[in-house]
Amino acid sequence: MPNQQGATPPGGGETVECPVCRMEIDPEEAPASLEHGGETFRFCNLRCRDRFLARPGFFLKGRRGTAAPRPLTAG
Ligand SMILES: [Zn+2]
Repeated sequence: MPNQQGATPPGGGETVECPVCRMEIDPEEAPASLEHGGETFRFCNLRCRDRFLARPGFFLKGRRGTAAPRPLTAG
């Protein structure tokens, strides 16, 4: 039987995380996407994209690696 190379099996795709609400979504079915800093981000809905557009740095912070420790205010 023919074996098509490069064809991804349906339903076995990878999921991505909405950077705004951290929801897992299928990049193929993401209702909203945005290119930022040479990277393409997918969003679970348009509202999340709008929030990301408003403050991209806020949602990108801590996306990779461990979350930065919150500074404790003495006193
Ligand atoms: Zn979202």
